[in-house]
Amino acid sequence: ASGYNMLRDPHHNKGLAFTERERDAHYLRGLLPPAVITQELQEKKLMHNLRQYQVPLHKYMAMMELEERNERLFYKLLIDNVEELLPVVYTPTVGEACQKYGSIFRRPQGLYISLKEKGKILEVLRNWPEKSIQVIVVTDGERILGLGDLGCQVTSLDSWNGNTSGEIVFVHCLGGVRPSACLPVTIDVGTNNEQLLNDEFYIGLKQRRATGKEYYDLLHEFMTAVKQNYGEKVLVQFEDFANHNAFELLAKYGTTHLVFNDDIQGTASVVLAGLVASLKLLGGTLADHTFLFLGAGEAGTGIAELIALEMSKQTKIPLEETRKKIWLVDSKGLVVSSRKESLQHFKKPWAHEREPVNNLLDAVKAIKPTALIGTSGVGKQFTKEVVEAMASFNEKPLIMALSNPTSQAECTAEEAYTWTEGRAIFASGSPFDPVEFNGKCFMPGQANNAYIFPGLGFGLVISGAIRVHDDMLLAASEALAGQVTQEHYDKGMIYPPLTNIRKISANIAAKVAAKAYELGLATRLPRPADLVKYAESCMYTPNYRSYR
Ligand code: NAP
Ligand code: MN
Repeated sequence: ASGYNMLRDPHHNKGLAFTERERDAHYLRGLLPPAVITQELQEKKLMHNLRQYQVPLHKYMAMMELEERNERLFYKLLIDNVEELLPVVYTPTVGEACQKYGSIFRRPQGLYISLKEKGKILEVLRNWPEKSIQVIVVTDGERILGLGDLGCQVTSLDSWNGNTSGEIVFVHCLGGVRPSACLPVTIDVGTNNEQLLNDEFYIGLKQRRATGKEYYDLLHEFMTAVKQNYGEKVLVQFEDFANHNAFELLAKYGTTHLVFNDDIQGTASVVLAGLVASLKLLGGTLADHTFLFLGAGEAGTGIAELIALEMSKQTKIPLEETRKKIWLVDSKGLVVSSRKESLQHFKKPWAHEREPVNNLLDAVKAIKPTALIGTSGVGKQFTKEVVEAMASFNEKPLIMALSNPTSQAECTAEEAYTWTEGRAIFASGSPFDPVEFNGKCFMPGQANNAYIFPGLGFGLVISGAIRVHDDMLLAASEALAGQVTQEHYDKGMIYPPLTNIRKISANIAAKVAAKAYELGLATRLPRPADLVKYAESCMYTPNYRSYR
């Protein structure tokens, strides 16, 4: 390849880091200014530049521009500055970017499969230049990050695929999968978003969402084509499907494909990890606790099910019994058995025997939970009264305000600590700054799915797993909880700092792979003796390669 093309290819470009010899060997002479600098210095310069931007969206755009220009430098920057940059390229900034910049399409960064491609999906897959794909992240854009139906807009961002499936790919690569082995896919079956339907610049299909058979036929063709083209070991990660489809797709393909729904299973696993870790502070076992959820959708019921499963594994008490330690409140009040007839199927296991209760405060008073978990998507629902009630019968009330973005959090970190006189153990979905209360500094935890899915995905990939099993989710939770040290606990943290995401992912991957071998679901044989070492040795590292 000519030097000129090399500079324009983000996989090869190193900018000023091309050495004198490389400049000679690859026709780069004169195409670059004379200085030769290291990747480290490039990083330093870029971080300096990024920090000049006050608006997160501008940082985001600068990062996307870098990804399009120099892939390795992009990932190096991300890995070395996770805490600072993950919120820029992943939630929450990416949400804002989707909303504002939806219609500026620049270059394809993933595949678009719309109803127009019906009957041709295998062909579409073959148009993608990379042939060895390990992880496919697919969305239909119906329920983006609590922002609702963004149609095809989710991938249409600018430079990179500033979309849900795209942002997820960044994080997968942080966890160890090679960027070229990841494929983001947007399924476009239309949108019910009026604003988009009336927008002359909208880049998706301008029709209302297909449902029922038409929808499921397209997804089935996609799933079939994926297996035909990439085999059994490709992971299909579902992101941001609306809850009715999410549950159905997971149930339908869980037995025939390697599928994972991050919003249900990833969330469940990361929250369970926080609960397992918090037991060190709270005392007792999971089964000694009582859980109350606000929100009985994808996130809430997914988390509830995994907690019940873990309790059941630990105590040998049947799942039907351990579920009774968990209660859910939805938009109509406490989910109870008298409502059973009218309940969606995923709520039925949680419809326990009790008088109806129609608001959260009364539910808290009636159930007296030790842990209160918010997954309703509606902000400010953990009022002073609710939190004070929690503090009145718990020495250390566990409060998780998981709804995103920050404005939708059920309560803030400061509120949780203040209203409980510093006794709460608090974690949230969106990040909160440390809080000082009565001279003590509290570090709120963030139940970020980014802790789990990269390690889980990598564990599946390195073991050549062909199915996801719930025990792998439990293994991932335990591995993550195991990364919380005494030093973290002392600050009130129930999650380790994200800075360690590489180490965390290697550990999760190893535990997940071990489970895959144990269950006979791994195809990479023989099993490596030291799975942590093996995971580390397989990880994508974005240091520059030298060209001859
Ligand atoms: P979802 O499937 O739409 O479920 C929302 C649930 O909340 C439904 O059960 C709904 O009730 C209930 N609800 C809505 N408004 C309510 C109100 N005013 N009072 C009580 N219940 C109410 O959504 P999801 O996918 O579960 O996501 C929910 C939230 O969790 C989102 O904000 C998302 O950002 C967050 N989340 C966080 C993480 C994380 O922290 N890692 C991960 C995933 C999701 P009905 O069933 O009666 O309609
Ligand atoms: Mn998601």
